[in-house]
Amino acid sequence: MRAMVFERVGAPLRAVELPVPSPGPGQLLLRISACGICRTDLHLLDGEVAIAHPPRVLGHQIVATSVADGRRVGVPWLGWTDGDCPQCRAGRENLCEHARFTGRDIDGGYAEYAVADERFCLEIPGDHPDEQVAPLLCAGLIGYRSLSLCGDAHRVGFYGFGAAAHILTQVARWQGREVYAFTRAGDDAAQAFARELGAVWAGASEDAPPAELDGAIIFAPVGALVPAALRAVRPGGTVVCGGIHMSDIPSFPYEILWGERVLRSVANLTRSDGHEFLALAAQARVRTHVNTYTLERANEALADLREGNFTGAGVLLP
Ligand SMILES: [Zn+2]
Ligand SMILES: [Zn+2]
Repeated sequence: MRAMVFERVGAPLRAVELPVPSPGPGQLLLRISACGICRTDLHLLDGEVAIAHPPRVLGHQIVATSVADGRRVGVPWLGWTDGDCPQCRAGRENLCEHARFTGRDIDGGYAEYAVADERFCLEIPGDHPDEQVAPLLCAGLIGYRSLSLCGDAHRVGFYGFGAAAHILTQVARWQGREVYAFTRAGDDAAQAFARELGAVWAGASEDAPPAELDGAIIFAPVGALVPAALRAVRPGGTVVCGGIHMSDIPSFPYEILWGERVLRSVANLTRSDGHEFLALAAQARVRTHVNTYTLERANEALADLREGNFTGAGVLLP
């Protein structure tokens, strides 16, 4: 099969031919039709998040068909847990001490086939095309976990308006919330896109929103956004850092945290997040805006993601 493989930090992915993998006990052999690209893949390429055992096939937003029975399934970032560590036993499998992640510890979806532990595959409700479903599996799902951690916040701010925010804006509106979109200064395309999707306000990250926010999610991997977001939320509000990696957070005066503001990160997902979110996305009729690339163009797709060359999400079509 054809695959795009990570070999070492700083090098582009390499197109290779690999044998079709054989499923072990409890695993499904999957024929992949679409795989979303994610900022985490850039962190892996850059070595900001480490791959312990290269070579590795990246890709953790897989939409595929089970070869054995023709079922359509999604494979997310959480690929395996031990089920037995203190975190798992407390219902926090997203924090499992021995978790294995798709496209980092387990070969992922930048390929024609993959194998996956059946217990971690997600059923995909509805009949949306595969390439439109793919971005729901990380951008949507971890974004949804971040939004849930904002509680009942009515006015929510999204810092960084990429794949996750474009999905979450639709979910937040469907839940009756107001969305405030923050982008890089001068990114008129992203701000117009946010307004089109129903954001009540869109502006630059340094701007003060027209109303105090009840909660904010930082999707961009930029530590300087933490004090900016804390300044924008009201006392008692929450700021969630939604990414796996962020540049260092500059020091800031205690007064912008004081007033019982909460600052927290979100890490990975649980299977119940997956079931809950995919059902909700179908019910809320979430539509993703996707930019598709053939598998061989994976490096170009990742460069476009890095440069902000498209709005919405990027998806590879093996
Ligand atoms: Zn565990
Ligand atoms: Zn991801």
